Amino acid sequence: MKKPRWVNITFIAALTAALSLCCVLFGSISPQEAFAPISTESLPTPSGELPVASTSPETPNVEPSPTYMSVYAPTSIIIDGNKIATLLSEQAARSVIAEAIDYLSSIDDSSYADVVVENEIEYTAALLTESSVTSDEALMLLIGSDTPLKVRATVRYSSTERIESKTIMQEYAFLGRGMRIIKTYGRDGLKLCTFEDVYVNGILKSKSMLSEEVVLDAINTLILVGIATSSADSPDEDDGQMGPTLHGMRFIRPCAGDIIFNFGNYSGGYHMGLDFEGALGDEVYASCSGVVVSASARGGLGLMIEIDHGNGITTRYAHLDSVKVQVGDTVDMGDVIGAIGESGNCNTPHLHFELRILGFAYNPRFYIEL
Ligand SMILES: [Zn+2]
Repeated sequence: MKKPRWVNITFIAALTAALSLCCVLFGSISPQEAFAPISTESLPTPSGELPVASTSPETPNVEPSPTYMSVYAPTSIIIDGNKIATLLSEQAARSVIAEAIDYLSSIDDSSYADVVVENEIEYTAALLTESSVTSDEALMLLIGSDTPLKVRATVRYSSTERIESKTIMQEYAFLGRGMRIIKTYGRDGLKLCTFEDVYVNGILKSKSMLSEEVVLDAINTLILVGIATSSADSPDEDDGQMGPTLHGMRFIRPCAGDIIFNFGNYSGGYHMGLDFEGALGDEVYASCSGVVVSASARGGLGLMIEIDHGNGITTRYAHLDSVKVQVGDTVDMGDVIGAIGESGNCNTPHLHFELRILGFAYNPRFYIEL
């Protein structure tokens, strides 16, 4: 058999009312909530004699019941020896201090803060006659601009910071005036920094870096700025570019034959060097002392040797038949380094010779002693 619905509703309503009453009577609602709005004057004193704090040992005539003590035991908040306010119970006093510290330590940061209260806080029993304040009034005193509290919140955190790269301009004697070459492309670096921020009553007081650890070094951009002026004598065949003065560096012809094809523009394009006449197997000489940086097949240039003479200056010997040096070998001016051939894009045996300054090809006629 089914009960009517209204029976259940009535029963639940009655039970809820009964439980609410029990909560108030047996203290599951906190004493401040139950009694905070009531002032001291309206509360009954426990005896006809001079009212004293119920926690004081000099009150044998007071028969405190445990329930009464937790509800009504006026307590003063003493901060650094000064009485700040009196509340209706120690619990109310402690709650308002906790709320004030929580408020003063809050900062606009989600990181964990280490909170230290720099005051000495005491709770002492007050006389029953002493006028008390509400929790809200006490809180206003404790968080206002004249608060006696000093709450220090320290936050530590790490963040990745950029290390800015620099641009360095370096004068370069082997490059013509007005020319610039980026020798090294720079980029920023990264470092992991640990910071410590200290707030007092929610206001940032200090910010310091505790440590930094470089994760990625910054690379500076290096730009070579040419300062050389062209002052070489005009060569016999002066088509093509004249590079900067090489400050007394000497270059000799790389083989015995005559020049058969000049540097510069021609119908098929731009010739980056000089071609020297020669027969298969004729000796090829180092035009200047230096270090062999390449000795291998290079596409259209065929078998090729490149010698680095320092300061960004190199010479190239192409279409070779054979090589007599290896990468890393040091050679002197005039050393035999290979033999003339017809390797690569070449119709008849000859030597293709280039002189490059920082990778740019210049007319070798300006530099070699023919
Ligand atoms: Zn050539």
